[in-house]
Amino acid sequence: MSRQKPVDHTQPLWIEEGIPSEAILVSVAPVAPIDKLYTFTVDEDLAARVRPGHRVMVPFGRKNRLAPAIVVSVGRGAWNSTLKPVDELLDDAGHLSDHLIELGRWISQYYCCPLGRTLGAMVPEAVRRQRGFLSVRHAQLVATAGELEGKRLGKMQHRVVERLREAGGPVEVGALLDETGASRATLRGLVSKGWVSETKSKIPAAYEPVNAERSVPDYSLNDAQQSALERIESAIGADAFRAFLLFGVSGSGKTEVYIRAMQRVVESGKQVVMLVPEIALTAQLMKRVAERFDRVAVIHSGLTGVQRSLAWEDIRTGRTPVVVGTRSAIFAPCPNVGMIVVDEEQESSYKNMQSPRFHVRDVAVMRAQMLGIPIVLGSATPSLETWQNCVWRDAYERVDLPSRVMGKALPHVRLVDTSQHGPFGQPKSVSPPLKQALSDTLANNLQAVVLINRRGFASWLFCPHCKTRIECRQCNAGMILHRSRGILLCHHCHHQDPIPRACPQMSCGGQLLQGSGGAERVEEELTTTFPKARIFRADSDTMTHADKYTELVRAMENREVDILLGTQMIAKGLDFPMVALVGVISADLTGAAADFRSSERLFQLVTQVAGRAGRAEVAGRVLVQTNSPDLPALLCSLRHDYRAFADSELAFRKEQGLPPFSRLTRVVLAGKKEPEVLAEGMTLGERIRAVLDGLADEQLRIHGPHPCALERVRGMYRYELLLYAPSASAMSNWIAAIKDDGGFKTRLRSIVVDVDPVDLA
Ligand code: ADP
Ligand code: ZN
Repeated sequence: MSRQKPVDHTQPLWIEEGIPSEAILVSVAPVAPIDKLYTFTVDEDLAARVRPGHRVMVPFGRKNRLAPAIVVSVGRGAWNSTLKPVDELLDDAGHLSDHLIELGRWISQYYCCPLGRTLGAMVPEAVRRQRGFLSVRHAQLVATAGELEGKRLGKMQHRVVERLREAGGPVEVGALLDETGASRATLRGLVSKGWVSETKSKIPAAYEPVNAERSVPDYSLNDAQQSALERIESAIGADAFRAFLLFGVSGSGKTEVYIRAMQRVVESGKQVVMLVPEIALTAQLMKRVAERFDRVAVIHSGLTGVQRSLAWEDIRTGRTPVVVGTRSAIFAPCPNVGMIVVDEEQESSYKNMQSPRFHVRDVAVMRAQMLGIPIVLGSATPSLETWQNCVWRDAYERVDLPSRVMGKALPHVRLVDTSQHGPFGQPKSVSPPLKQALSDTLANNLQAVVLINRRGFASWLFCPHCKTRIECRQCNAGMILHRSRGILLCHHCHHQDPIPRACPQMSCGGQLLQGSGGAERVEEELTTTFPKARIFRADSDTMTHADKYTELVRAMENREVDILLGTQMIAKGLDFPMVALVGVISADLTGAAADFRSSERLFQLVTQVAGRAGRAEVAGRVLVQTNSPDLPALLCSLRHDYRAFADSELAFRKEQGLPPFSRLTRVVLAGKKEPEVLAEGMTLGERIRAVLDGLADEQLRIHGPHPCALERVRGMYRYELLLYAPSASAMSNWIAAIKDDGGFKTRLRSIVVDVDPVDLA
């Protein structure tokens, strides 16, 4: 094993007799979490087949233990005797183009994740395994006419040879045997003599792209849409990176602008990747996109391995012009991307929650930048990061769609103050005004959407007598009552307990109270209050499969649902014309997940869910229940005033030096024994501070270690270090310096380095 960095192309100065001076070398990244590249040699046969992106087995260490690695580059280089050969090529097809490998290098470096692991994560397992591919054999004549002259061939052997000679190239074995009537044994005989060669290869089974009957809307774009489209069009084919923030309230016609811009790209012979944050959104959007393009591939977490693998192959060959998908679609292997669209760019679900912890929007921006193409980021409530980029960066441009299409009004939003009732004095989740509004909506034969941001029945159980809440034994988080399943469930570690009849404290035994309601409890309340209403509950307990979303959309469109009750997943994107009322059960800033982005998320949530009302035929209204009715985020969302919200929030962030005025990296250490975790946190903190002294940059700051908001999960104590840098490049430099100093090392079981974190729990 030799630790050479990328393959060296320099020529040797002299050539010694008998010793090869040059060899074909591959540079590989181990799949194991080791952040280094290694060089190996390949023999002639392998050299003809190995490509960047292939997985290989290579020998490591003195014992030459074989381990998988991913080929990063292939080239000629100086041979030396310490180089070992690649043992085996694992893949038939290379799944990563040079461009995707370059993108992977950036992700690996920026998000602080070993390259092999990053490249591994960019190709879905089913794609690697070529699921849905069929094995086929081809036979080909290798012997020349001269070689066969005078040889005694059987009748069948003769026929096979003749057929192959006629074909002048490879013939599929099944067809060959059918046509000649020869048996496998006959063919084997020819192969064993060396006259015919047989090769095995894999071809994809037929792929069925999403299809929908062609349906082109008869309206023309309004002025704002038209000029937005023109701005984007000016960047299509311009051979330069450009990022557009398409800023418009829900129903302002953003999707229509995306689609028309996508059509331009496709007409120019290129492909488009369109990213959506949630699988729930792919169903409805899919249909709309499929109505406008000949061939569309969808990528989301609900696909089977075979579907995913065949879609990937179809995209790779360039046959599919349009790819729509959730997170992993950002790595769609399009050979010729002309534009990327990121819908709802502010969504936190774009952040990958395991290593590599990349943010899809930011990776998309980088991919567009590397390719020199435009990217369109769409939102009614842009992330403050993107909003500020339009102020700071020349390549960013904000394009506004100031009002809803066809002069439709934004819904009227009203706050319902629930603070008078304490959390325990409020038996009902649905306040009288919301109940009345629901009743009116049902009477008018219209639909309502009710948003509750908690799963389960009650958020927690509380004993008023000894003033304790029932917590998970492993986590410092309340157990959630799931009545339909008859259990208490911890939403962090999935630990389950039976439901206690009384306070479990030995000496207490008090009567337990339920905290504010979760989705299940609200459902029960609604069912009792409106026994005739047809209620559809959508949360992660009920939406277990992709088909359920299609089912939800169909049922809503066919008016088979009167009240759609759900968690965040129903807040975005869905577009149903008969929704006249939206209710939000509790718009509060509480909970363990409260962090510096809480206000931003609250503003986004209320604005988004409000956008579900009054999309088409009917005027909409929105009732937001809250126990803190004077929060600026809520007051701004009442007026649909993003700018006012952004101004006040940005002023706060600037004063505090928080993103977007800085970059944040969060390091979380976890272990069984608290003092040990703290001690390790101190040691690492000191090392990082020492690196900081070396850099002498006064704008770099480190805080901690201190306990995480969620101090204990699965029995592990958690401490965090927070690193602030003024810019992405300053952060990268700092992290690189820490790596040079030995990296983020700890003796603990777990350490997580999260660059640009979204979840600060
Ligand atoms: P957004 O993506 O901003 O929420 P959409 O593009 O989905 O907005 O538009 C909202 C609705 O209005 C959709 O049903 C769409 O078909 C329709 N629509 C879009 N543009 C126009 C237009 N110029 N004239 C009439 N209807 C339009
Ligand atoms: Zn737990």
